[in-house]
Amino acid sequence: MDEIEACGPADAEEEVALRVKWGSVTYAVELSPESTVADLKDRLFELTEVLPKRQKVIGLPGVSGRPACDSLLLSNLRIKQDQKVMLIGSREADISSVNALCAATAFSDVVNDLDIDYSEDDARTGANIIRHKEAYRRRLERRVETTDFRIMNAPREGKRLLVLDIDYTIFDCKSTAESISVLSRPGLHQFLASAYRHFDIVVWSQTSWRWLEAKLTELSMLFSTEYKLAFVLDRTAMFSVTSTRRGVERTHEVKALEIIWRKFPQWNQHNTLHVDDLSRNFALNPRYV
Ligand code: MG
Repeated sequence: MDEIEACGPADAEEEVALRVKWGSVTYAVELSPESTVADLKDRLFELTEVLPKRQKVIGLPGVSGRPACDSLLLSNLRIKQDQKVMLIGSREADISSVNALCAATAFSDVVNDLDIDYSEDDARTGANIIRHKEAYRRRLERRVETTDFRIMNAPREGKRLLVLDIDYTIFDCKSTAESISVLSRPGLHQFLASAYRHFDIVVWSQTSWRWLEAKLTELSMLFSTEYKLAFVLDRTAMFSVTSTRRGVERTHEVKALEIIWRKFPQWNQHNTLHVDDLSRNFALNPRYV
């Protein structure tokens, strides 16, 4: 359960109330309707010591589909009472210590064991054997029935399918930056424009639709004139399986492409490209080595 810290005056009914999630802490923040986005960032600086220039507030309603800029009044943003937003950004002291650590380890072999994932060796040796296949088949069938495909642009005839993850695939969601464009993968929009000539593009992220929409908006992926997204899928289209890695049993969720293929039979294992930083997400997909 997240820690909740209440901050700011609470007696004025007309105040704009937000719940700001920063790491594992959620702050209840109240500001006057005359406050701007910049004022919100100043308040968040008081609470977190993250400089406003390093703050990225994800989930604020935009204006005309564009991210909210600092000069906008909060009262113009159609913020719901106690709306949840996410703050991305680090304190200067934390950045300094990370930079020092990076410098110290720049030439050493650093093993990232923060996340459970398959290695290439696992894939080659079949160490990630999935058990309980019948149970997984039933779960898959349920997702086939219940998945909400948010169609944004109708699939085009004769195009292959590109399924893209967001976090750590096209968006570095934990680093700090003054602009979200710095956190997106270099050349992202050129890549998408190029891919769009041959592929219909789908985004599938292990997050809720609300955060998914906010990230796509911030990344300016919803309004390009050079490419369009066919649809997006969120975590509700995933389900959990248990597999083994190096003899250790793990339970994790998967992105089973068959859910898409059953809905859109023009796509299959021969014309789909799935790009994700976590290979465990592929665990139920056909494997070609
Ligand atoms: Mg990812």
